[in-house]
Amino acid sequence: MTFASDAAAVAHRPVVTRVVEGDSVRVPASEQAVRIPLRLSRDGGDIDRLWVQRTMVDEIWLEHRAPGHATWRSPVQSFFRPEDDGPSFPTGFVFKLPEGVEDVDLMVRTHAPVQLRPTSQTGATVADMQQRGGALAGANYASLAVLAFMALSLFAAVRDRIYLALLALSASALAWFVASNGHLYAWPGVRWFALWGAQGVWALELLHCAAALWLAQRYAELEIAARKLDRAGDVLRYIALGLAALALVRLDVLASSMAWAAALVGGATLAFIIATAVVAVRHRIWNSLSVLTIVLVVAGAFTLRAFTPFGIHGFWVRYGPQLAITVCVLLVAVGMIGRIAHVRDERDRERLARGDSERRLEREAARVDLVQQLQRRLRELPAGDLEWAAFRSVFERLLPLLRLESAALVAYGFHGFDLLLAEPISSKPHYTDLLATRMGMMKGLARTQAPVQLQLGNGEALHLLHAVVPLPIRAPAWGVLLLQRGDGSSFTDEELALASDFGRLAVQHADEAAAALSLRRSAELDALTGTFNRRTIDLWLSRSFSEAHREDQLLSVLFVDIDHFKAINDNHGHAAGDAVLRQVSDVLRKELQPTDVLGRYGGEEFVIVLPGRNGDDARQLGERIRSAIELVRLEYEGKPIRITVSVGVATRLPRENEPAAAVARADQALYAAKRGGRNRVNVAPAVFT
Ligand code: GH3
Ligand code: MG
Ligand code: MG
Repeated sequence: MTFASDAAAVAHRPVVTRVVEGDSVRVPASEQAVRIPLRLSRDGGDIDRLWVQRTMVDEIWLEHRAPGHATWRSPVQSFFRPEDDGPSFPTGFVFKLPEGVEDVDLMVRTHAPVQLRPTSQTGATVADMQQRGGALAGANYASLAVLAFMALSLFAAVRDRIYLALLALSASALAWFVASNGHLYAWPGVRWFALWGAQGVWALELLHCAAALWLAQRYAELEIAARKLDRAGDVLRYIALGLAALALVRLDVLASSMAWAAALVGGATLAFIIATAVVAVRHRIWNSLSVLTIVLVVAGAFTLRAFTPFGIHGFWVRYGPQLAITVCVLLVAVGMIGRIAHVRDERDRERLARGDSERRLEREAARVDLVQQLQRRLRELPAGDLEWAAFRSVFERLLPLLRLESAALVAYGFHGFDLLLAEPISSKPHYTDLLATRMGMMKGLARTQAPVQLQLGNGEALHLLHAVVPLPIRAPAWGVLLLQRGDGSSFTDEELALASDFGRLAVQHADEAAAALSLRRSAELDALTGTFNRRTIDLWLSRSFSEAHREDQLLSVLFVDIDHFKAINDNHGHAAGDAVLRQVSDVLRKELQPTDVLGRYGGEEFVIVLPGRNGDDARQLGERIRSAIELVRLEYEGKPIRITVSVGVATRLPRENEPAAAVARADQALYAAKRGGRNRVNVAPAVFT
């Protein structure tokens, strides 16, 4: 230690009035050591130690000067440089007194004004005090460390910033206590903190104040409960943080004022916390009454410490307030754990609501998508296919949405069709089996128009839970959707409603598509024979002629007229005439190729457009038709009706791009056939004369 240089300075030190050991003495901050002459009372025989409770002195030692003797000096001790071989948590500075000495000088050099109370003790008492002080401090540190870890894990689990405040409070309390008790400087790794001396301790105290304010504000929910007080807390907190930063700059000029500032902020913080605790009690915050009680105890303990110069001493004065703060933090922590369940409930509720709305959105999107697809897809399909397609679209969406293993459509008489559609196709045998035994039941369920869940199945699949969702199909037709999950889990009302809705959409769109189809058909077709009507065949004629002209293709036209049809009408009645017309159209259809177009041109006259055929091909076809009709044996009400037709053939001429002339030639050829005796085919020459 730097003993020699200190000794040189001794001559100029001010001498403090003589004190008796056991009295308190205030030592001002000074660059030089202060000498405090002490009168020792050594009544007990084995009193041989001087004990001074640890405070933030830079150096402290004893000197004894006797006339004629060399000056005796004890080893120098320091708050910021604890002895390596001392106890882990030293509570006091201990000096072994020289034998028989009654007067010693206590030498103190400090940058912070301190209050000292030297007492002479026996070795046993000193050991006892060190031990008790150490135990108290250690217990306190351990509790704060546990609280800090707990706060950290609570924050990680709940993500509520209040636990961050709790962490800040416990950690800052731990750091402040460890530093202000002088234990920090013994630990490797953090020793360097001694560089800041007392200023470092004040900085930690101020940080602790800021953390305490933060937690108090959050704990009592001041933002809602008391806005003015909350704002005052903010201001005080910023002051504390600002001063802490200033203290860490470590300006020696500021040392004395910093001690006062820290004490003032500490007092204000305490007052603020008492006010906050009262607000918390008024708002019935969990555990707030115990917190208020302990806050008052803390306030009392600090007040007590402030009065140490007037004779109140001991460990409880040093460690009591710290312990009270720890208990207070613990109580707040317990209160906050109570909030976790609440927070978690809220979070679960929120997550459920979010999941709910996500699911709703997903279903809504699937519904919109389904409607669009139904509108697009069904327009282009023929009757008989569109029903399948509609329900396939439904299954495409329903299977993933409701996590189905399989689904089936069972419909009877829907647009005149009986349908069993299973998805995936491998599940079809299961549904076929099911239908074989439960058809009647399903028909009954379809009538109820309300979805149900039933244990259905045969053999291995016995007792598998199925949802049966009736479809709004007009009686006597009926239909249901059958839905099934692999795990046999049941369906919620919402899911059944969704399936019902999708089924309804499929039926509705299939109905609309079928209606549109039949409307289109009736506009194009002749109602009696099902062949194209006059309007449509005229359209085909002009289209075929312009196309054949453009592509320089062959094209022929046949006119087929029933012979003596008037007589059939007259002899057998109009209904018989209609039957003959249907019979003839059936025969004609059979003789045609897919590219040929057949229409009823009017009355009992049919037109056949033959793309790609020359006059000879057309004539051969006309001949086939003529002989096929001749062979028809039609009976009406027991009476045989003999039918023959006459056929006129015309072929497109190279430059013809519209049908009128060719149609006229075919007509003329037909009349020529009539004139020639009927039941014959006549080909028009290129130009009729
Ligand atoms: P031809 O051998 O010269 O063709 O003699 P036709 O009797 O077949 O010719 P006509 O033009 O004199 O008679 C056509 C008859 O067809 C007149 C009309 O009453 C009848 N007719 C027209 N449309 C229909 C129909 O839709 N149903 C029935 N039953 N008869 C029809
Ligand atoms: Mg006729
Ligand atoms: Mg006619």
